Amino acid sequence: TTFEEIGMSEELLKGVYHMKFTKPSKIQASSLPLILSADGDHKNLIAQGHNGSGKTACFVLGMLSRVDTSSEATQALCLVPTRELARQIGDVVASLGRYTKATTKIAVKATEEERRAAYAREETGHLTEHIVVGTPGKVMELIKKRRLNTSAMKILVLDEADEMVDTQGMGDQTIRIKRMLPKGVQVLLFSATYADNVRGLASKLAPSANQITI
Ligand code: AMP
Repeated sequence: TTFEEIGMSEELLKGVYHMKFTKPSKIQASSLPLILSADGDHKNLIAQGHNGSGKTACFVLGMLSRVDTSSEATQALCLVPTRELARQIGDVVASLGRYTKATTKIAVKATEEERRAAYAREETGHLTEHIVVGTPGKVMELIKKRRLNTSAMKILVLDEADEMVDTQGMGDQTIRIKRMLPKGVQVLLFSATYADNVRGLASKLAPSANQITI
């Protein structure tokens, strides 16, 4: 398979070339056609695989391809266990999406240092970014304060779902956030392992999902 055959937009293909990806990795070849052709009942995906498989590009391309940049609505949400991971994914979105008009907000709690710094004022107002990448706690806070509108969400991604279920309260928070999204939202869940607790979370978040293992 080639990236051209997968049927991405010209802008995303250019982003892929900019990253110097010549051909899709195994997980990309098997999951991207599925992720990008999301209609009908078979749009949810549970993917088990390790770091280094190229999974980040799978869901980042998935989010970028879902977003309609003629609107200011937030349409893609990526939940991750740590602020570092949120920032890393934000960088990948910026790189793969550099030829698109998609905008991204990193939604994580400020570090102690950032809180102490004089420039760290509390942000207010509605988010107008197309893509939000963050931790469940911060994202929940933004929804509760009505700063993040969830009504136009099309895709929910969970990365490192095994880390999330192992972190106190994060699995439940994720389920609560999912309930606030529109009914037909596409869910992509990535996890290094697929133990019972991940399976439980996945069955609640991504029913009747396609499953792939790498
Ligand atoms: P990940 O598994 O998402 O953490 O990605 C691991 C590394 O593989 C990252 O440095 C990516 O930039 C790189 N990568 C992802 N997809 C490809 C590809 N198709 N060709 C070459 N490198 C890739």
